[in-house]
Amino acid sequence: MDFSFTEEQKLWHDTLHAFMENEVGREYTRKHDEAREFPGELYQKVADNGWLGMLLPEDQGGLDADPVMYAIFCEAMAKFSLDTAACVMTPMFTATNISRHGTAEQKQEYLPAFLRGEQKFAISISEPDAGSDAAGIQTRAVLDGDEWVINGNKTWCSGAHHPNTAITLMARTGEDRHGGLSMILVPNDVPGLTIRKLDTIVRRSLGTTELFFDNVRVPRESILGEVNSGWQYVNEHLEYERLGLAASYVGNARTALDDTISYTRGRTQFGRALSSFQVLKHRMAENECEVEAARLLTYSAATKMARGERAVKEVSMAKVFAADVAFKVAFNGMQALGGYAQVPEYDMERYFREAKHGMVGGGASEIQRSIIAREMGL
Ligand SMILES: Cc1cc2nc3c(=O)[nH]c(=O)nc-3n(C[C@H](O)[C@H](O)[C@H](O)COP(=O)(O)OP(=O)(O)OC[C@H]3O[C@@H](n4cnc5c(N)ncnc54)[C@H](O)[C@@H]3O)c2cc1C
Repeated sequence: MDFSFTEEQKLWHDTLHAFMENEVGREYTRKHDEAREFPGELYQKVADNGWLGMLLPEDQGGLDADPVMYAIFCEAMAKFSLDTAACVMTPMFTATNISRHGTAEQKQEYLPAFLRGEQKFAISISEPDAGSDAAGIQTRAVLDGDEWVINGNKTWCSGAHHPNTAITLMARTGEDRHGGLSMILVPNDVPGLTIRKLDTIVRRSLGTTELFFDNVRVPRESILGEVNSGWQYVNEHLEYERLGLAASYVGNARTALDDTISYTRGRTQFGRALSSFQVLKHRMAENECEVEAARLLTYSAATKMARGERAVKEVSMAKVFAADVAFKVAFNGMQALGGYAQVPEYDMERYFREAKHGMVGGGASEIQRSIIAREMGL
């Protein structure tokens, strides 16, 4: 068994990390987090490099990259912030729904513009009364002649407010709990749709929103794939979403630990570097083991997906473990940096806030454990 990257994977890894260091950087990331601004220049550079198309097939203009290459990408995008990774990853995995299930017209309308960086996507499943219980959604779409009429209230829809964004909406189109759900493409500027931005402590650059649909009308052709197949589609994309999230937690945990090591080496108290105190050294050593374990779980899941095998259990294992590791590393970093951890200039408070979200976003940790238990036959 070989645990190292191939030459191609290593080159990809190094290219991406050089990009993050030289063309993005910490200051840029921090500034956008503090200002709650979307990192537009970064997003456009990712588009110009052709990377937005990683998950799309070549005949649709994409790179048709395998899940390992995608995990390497997500790990790098989260180098300075999980939010930066979310800004790039959210439209990418949402676009796969159109790529897989869209009509020729939908692909033509949305995908070339997406690859150019002009068209974005948001995914809207969660509602005020349906979070973990995603199949419990009540937002309803009813056919009226040649149009769907949509009514309801969605929440936590990340990135829905940006210009040229299409919301991939999960709506109830039938009575069956799972078999009565459909995905509908809704441009974010349609009459009757109100978008309210939420002041969350994370996702400050991507932004997250509440949506109110009041007799919103979209053409019948806005349905994605088959009516009442939405649950199946979302589950296909969730595997990519959760793999990307696990990889991003690994990437950000690595930086948080490196920052902790570097700070404790440079800071002297009682005439010694902080890094020479055994209690801090041991904490960092334990975190080193955990980051490496999270990385191995993540790439093990990605490798299984790349072989075309079902990896639901492995992806959930990677996500839940890596989320805990990212939080522990940032928590210990907050302690190791003392008071300095609490100002944005040291970045640790951002890692800490964002890692906490990792235990909830993309399916809470308790739900991941329930999926693992189910896959274990429990
Ligand atoms: C910043 C942010 C961005 C988001 N972006 C998006 C987005 O773009 N699109 C989207 O659709 N959603 C998005 N979400 C929603 C996210 O997926 C949900 O918050 C998540 O699924 C949990 O749902 P909830 O918040 O309603 O919590 P709840 O479901 O109410 O859960 C609360 C707690 O109870 C636990 N719990 C619930 N059910 C069980 C159970 N059966 N067994 C054990 N424990 C249980 C949960 O694990 C959790 O700890 C976002 C959320 C946030 C905060």
